[in-house]
Amino acid sequence: MSKLGFIGLGIMGTPMAGNLLTGGHELYLYDIKPLAKTLVDQGGVPCRSCKEVAQKADIVIIMVPDTPNVADVLFAENGVAAGLSPRKIVVDMSSISPVETKEFARRIEALGCDYLDAPVSGGEVGAKAGSLTIMVGGKQEVFDKVKPLFELMGKNITLVGGNGDGQTCKVANQIIVALTIEAVGEALLFASKAGADPAKVRQALMGGFASSRILEVHGERMIKRTFEPGFRITLHQKDLNLALASARAIGVSLPNTATCQELFNACAAHGGSGWDHSAMVRALEMMAGFEIAEKTES
Ligand code: NAD
Repeated sequence: MSKLGFIGLGIMGTPMAGNLLTGGHELYLYDIKPLAKTLVDQGGVPCRSCKEVAQKADIVIIMVPDTPNVADVLFAENGVAAGLSPRKIVVDMSSISPVETKEFARRIEALGCDYLDAPVSGGEVGAKAGSLTIMVGGKQEVFDKVKPLFELMGKNITLVGGNGDGQTCKVANQIIVALTIEAVGEALLFASKAGADPAKVRQALMGGFASSRILEVHGERMIKRTFEPGFRITLHQKDLNLALASARAIGVSLPNTATCQELFNACAAHGGSGWDHSAMVRALEMMAGFEIAEKTES
């Protein structure tokens, strides 16, 4: 049994922390919002600050929305850094900037502690099922120590490289997801406007080379018009901002990532920041003046 800390208990953090408690670990918890009762009922110990979590736990896990939130959790007045002592480990599982991550790791290591970036893919469903994909950046020996904890939360767990490389991998993941949503949206919109039944088209394509998890899950959302999140557009905009800013910094052009970001921006302009990211198709539909779910004249 290890003494663990968990900071950021939202859509993802609550079920991930629940799986660590089920695994028999002692868990110290902190969020700026009230904690889920289920976590306290399972034996999780609420703390008053990030500092208190870091004082009580040997390994501190963070799962908050964005880079500034992680900076606050780590380095604000009552932050994790103020409560750490040498040889403790900080594991940031949020999806944030690879560049800032390297700096965060350097500052935590300067305190005699270790740092892993370990963002995830798989959504709320994967967090509940303990089947997340976990992309890790950091030292091999630190990864080996934390791996049994990752195995309680995920299935496909890879040490990608040094600090920042886990976050870089997650950005790459979000590029593929955004571009595939766009491709599925264009294909189903085209098929539907051309007079074919989009549900039948999806079913036919599921068996071929165009098959994907996104055609399966988000294709169905587009046809059934179920756009409650899931994964909010505002979070995917954050990830594509990271992709586009990093690409600019290293001198790489990502033309289709930029297009997808513009489509998300169009959704946000129509009140869609909180829609599921599969609702990117709505921006395409606005341009076409046609909705996939509309019945076409036969
Ligand atoms: P969320 O908004 O549901 O939860 C984040 C939690 O962090 C909230 O409870 C919030 O109160 C807390 N928080 C924010 N600032 C804090 C601070 N300074 N101190 C303590 N707590 C603080 O977000 P989420 O959906 O759980 O996503 C978390 C991260 O995981 C994001 O980086 C997101 O991109 C990533 N992610 C989300 C999904 C998904 O499907 N939701 C999938 C993969 C990755």
